[in-house]
This record gives sequence, structure tokens and C-alpha cells, in this order.
Amino acid sequence: MIPFNKPYITGNEINYISDVINSGVLSANAKYTKLCQNFFEKKYHIKKCFLTSSCTAALEMAAILLNIKNGDEVIMPSYTFVSTANAFVLRGAKIIFADSKSENPCISEDLELLITNKTKAIVVVHYGGIACDMDKIMELALKHNLFVVEDAAQSIDGFYKGKDGRKKALGTIGHIGAISFHDTKNITSGEGGMLMVNSDQFIKRSEIIWEKGTNRSAFFRHEVEKYGWEDIGSSFSPSEMIAAFLFAQLENLEPIQKRRIEIWNLYKEKLSNLQLDHKIELPVIPDYATNNGHMFYIICSSLKERTELICYLKNKTVSCSFHYLSLHKSLYYKDLYSGDELTQADKYSERLMRLPFFYELTDDQIKEVTSTIASFYSDKILNQLKS
Ligand SMILES: *Cc1c(COP(=O)(O)O)cnc(C)c1O
Repeated sequence: MIPFNKPYITGNEINYISDVINSGVLSANAKYTKLCQNFFEKKYHIKKCFLTSSCTAALEMAAILLNIKNGDEVIMPSYTFVSTANAFVLRGAKIIFADSKSENPCISEDLELLITNKTKAIVVVHYGGIACDMDKIMELALKHNLFVVEDAAQSIDGFYKGKDGRKKALGTIGHIGAISFHDTKNITSGEGGMLMVNSDQFIKRSEIIWEKGTNRSAFFRHEVEKYGWEDIGSSFSPSEMIAAFLFAQLENLEPIQKRRIEIWNLYKEKLSNLQLDHKIELPVIPDYATNNGHMFYIICSSLKERTELICYLKNKTVSCSFHYLSLHKSLYYKDLYSGDELTQADKYSERLMRLPFFYELTDDQIKEVTSTIASFYSDKILNQLKS
């Protein structure tokens, strides 16, 4: 069986976890938390990073930081993971779902009509680690005085190349960014995430929200004599064991990214004939985006065809998957949704299929996946001729 995902263990995780155990400090915000946060701050020029227990938790911090309250409207794509929306719904926001682009599942920048005097923020999702067109989004946000949050869950080491010619890491362009280290992402700590604070106005308060609403961090820096309750907050920071695991992964970011991009390119090469024959559509990287090798997907011609293909592949021991039921059609939100049809979101929801993607996937396995997909389409033609 070729699995859909297999977390890669670099080897040093266990050593760093032992180091934590021997140090006697197991809780949060010690050596490894700082090493991980520094790694990101230096490498991607991020003002301030906070490790969190998940990307979901980082998004919840973002919603608190923006003071989202009952009745505020937050615009985001419908084609995304539930956490993008849940974090804001928990604060009482009304979610205004936008459609995806026709060329990829990122939010369509054509969303000005969705902005009202209640709109507080736009949340973008860099789907598959491929950037949204951030210049356009930031321009709209500036014009209407809105905050921008980047759900960069899948976007480690992905960049946006703006009009000014500078390459900016995803998650560092909006006011706040959130990244995930779930075991389906490029770099993992099992569960884990990080908040990226890009706007000075949020730095001080982030630290307090992160520390259960207290100024404990300032206390540990000897800036205050005692610490106490200053704001709302929660237990957002992961234990040092998690951070130790993550740091071992980060030390291997370069080889992991190199191989993942090779995998992506080999998939694209091996499937290009099927695309030329108009059997499937393949992902395209816009000029303003880089490829971070997060995932490879194909777009089938119908829901029925995708269902048959997934079944066919499973019988030939290849495990593929689809994801994201458009949130505006979800059980939880469908009765609350009163906007337009979102045809692109529905397209990706019904027709997008993800291929096995992990660091240890071999070239032979990739060829097996792609030749099995090809044989599905040739069998299909044969069956049509027979009937
Ligand atoms: C994985 C993912 C999340 C959730 O990340 P967790 O770390 O599991 O909370 C949120 N948004 C998107 C787009 C994701 O892909």
C-alpha cells in the first residue's frame, strides 16, 4: 500500500526530548520554544513568533487580538479547513464566505462587494502553500481599514513575490499569520502551530494572551515584581517536549523542502500527458508565488469520476484523498449562509483529489501512482468503446 501520508522522523527528536527530560523544565517557554521561535524570526524576518499547541490555537489568538466580537463580519474562503472559520465564530463573528479563484483554490481577490461597515478582517488561506495575491488583498484592506490574517497552515517556506520585487514569507505579510505543524504538514510536531505577529500594535498583547492572560513573561524577564491577570487569554503554548521535537525537524527543513519540491515536480511531469489530453487539470503556480512542495492535487472532470478514481486507486493499493466540504454548505453553517452560490469552491470540493505526498515517497512509488491514474483513464476509454 502506498499511504497518503507518513510523518518523517529525522532522528534527533528523541535526543532533544531526552535533553528536555534531563533539564527538569518540561513546561512551556523554555530552551526549545525559544530556539524554534528564533529560528523562524531570523530565517523569515518575522517580528515576533509564539509557538502554539496548533494552528487552530494560533488562529484563536488572532481572533482575540483583533477584538472580534458579536456581529463583526470576517471574510474568508469557503473552501478551507473548519479551523479558519471556527476561531472567529468562537468570538461571535459572522463569517462572510468568498469564492475561490478559477485557477487555484485561494480566495478570489474579487471580494470588495462583500465588504460592509461591519467587516473587521479578511482571512486568506494560502492553499497548498501557494500564495494568494497579497498585494491586491492588502490594498483592499488598506482602503477599507481592515485587518488581514493569513492562515499559512500549509505554507512553511512558501513566499509571495510582490510588485515591489521583494520575496516575503507567507504568514508575514498580513497583520497576523498562523502556521501548522500537524503531522500532515511539511514539518511536524504531531500537533503544533505558531502565531506570527507582523504588526507592532499586537506584540505586547500577544504575549499576555499566550500566557493565559497574565504578564508572566514580563515577570520572568524581571520587568515586573509580580505577575497577574491582565487580559483574556488561554493556555496556548505547547510543552518543551513538543518544541524539542519540532526543533529537530526545523534543523532538517532544507533537505525536507528540497525533496518535497522534487516530488511535486515529478508528479507534474508524469501527469502532464493526461493534462494535455484534457483528462485532468493540474496545479499551476502563479508568477507571484513560489512552490513549497506541500501537496499535489489533480482536478477530475466530475464528482463521479473522482469517486471512481479514488476507489480504483485504492484497489491498486494507492491511497488518495479529497478534502474540504465547502464551509458555506456545511451542516453547521448552511442555514446561516445567505450569500451567493460559490461555484469555484464547489468545484474544488467535488473534483479535487490529493495524491500521496511525504518526504520518504520514492520515485518508483510516484511512478506507480501516476501510471495507475493513467491506466484508470485508459481503462475508462476501453470500457466506453466496449459498451
Ligand atoms: C492544517 C490546517 C489547519 C489546522 O491546523 P492545526 O495545526 O491542525 O490546528 C488550519 N487551516 C488550514 C488551511 C490547514 O491546512
